[in-house]
Amino acid sequence: MQEESRTEVSSLGEFALIDHLTKNNETRNASTVLSVGDDAAVIDHFGKQTVVTTDLLIEGIHFDLMYTPLRHLGYKSVVVNLSDVYAMNAIPQQITMSIAFSNRFSVEALSELYEGVYAACGNYNVDLVGGDTTSSQRGLIISVTALGEVAPGNFVTRSGAKKGDLICVSGDLGSAFLGLTLLEREKKIWLETQGAQPDFEEQKYIVQRILKPEARKDIVNFFAEENIKPTAMLDVSDGLSSDLLHICKQSTGGCILYEEKIPFNEDARQFAYKLELDPTACALSGGEDYELLFTVDQADYDTVSKNKDISVIGYITEPEKGKKIITRGGSEHDLVAQGWNPINVKG
Ligand code: ADP
Ligand code: MG
Repeated sequence: MQEESRTEVSSLGEFALIDHLTKNNETRNASTVLSVGDDAAVIDHFGKQTVVTTDLLIEGIHFDLMYTPLRHLGYKSVVVNLSDVYAMNAIPQQITMSIAFSNRFSVEALSELYEGVYAACGNYNVDLVGGDTTSSQRGLIISVTALGEVAPGNFVTRSGAKKGDLICVSGDLGSAFLGLTLLEREKKIWLETQGAQPDFEEQKYIVQRILKPEARKDIVNFFAEENIKPTAMLDVSDGLSSDLLHICKQSTGGCILYEEKIPFNEDARQFAYKLELDPTACALSGGEDYELLFTVDQADYDTVSKNKDISVIGYITEPEKGKKIITRGGSEHDLVAQGWNPINVKG
């Protein structure tokens, strides 16, 4: 069997590694005045406002390299930050990428991670303008910061929802949680049996939703094309219930959510039944879907209905009415935060 080539980072040194990882780095946006290679990047947003967001990902807590290809990890670590920028109704322009790694990671492994980073930059038209490179005693740590631009005053917070506003969500929910459940289950089987590689072909959709999520750039573009501005918005990272409760709390409102309106992917729903899980619970508490959850004025109903990828799932009420979910059977329950987050599970 041919040995895969492995180049020790120590044989290159930090500066040559940075050069290696950034030698084909492209600049796509006029706002990127100066990119990688100096003490700092220079960004000019030409009269727009800037949004900035950052995320830290730790091996063993936020990702498991037993079932996460490095390329996907690089892609996802960028996308989750871009999702936060879109959730502000802004367009991402630049990212910085900082990594810390032990000597378990070779130049080839880090290059693979960067292949995913550059793929995301290309798909979302974003420039990588800097970062930092250092060592860690154990494992891989990734920190991504994303910058985005928005016309002055056009950003959308979590606090603007008002009584009567429609609650909307893009795409489908719960699939990422089901994908993670499947991967964790297969990992356990593999560890117990040292058996053959599992075949995920039939569950491609849910596995892709957890390993290689996408940010809803199309939805933010749709708002711009249709000239609508949500009253409140965030991206679904902790699960529908806890994220909707964030909007209610910060907007001082109540809500009615209809179980029957929650969007599912059919393969995901079938897989949930197979595992004897309730698809609704997966959507409410699952998390990591990176869909956009937003509220719009009732006058925008016809416009949002035109988009097949947007579901209207409820409406905002007075705060005194509480936060309620109406089940398929017609009974009313309090919506409770069971926000699921890998940090809580494994941390
Ligand atoms: P400094 O010592 O001034 O912080 P560095 O040697 O760390 O500079 O970085 C040199 C250049 O390379 C800077 O532009 C920095 O933003 C960029 N850079 C460093 N590490 C990374 C990385 N992992 N990915 C992308 N750019 C990086
Ligand atoms: Mg540095």
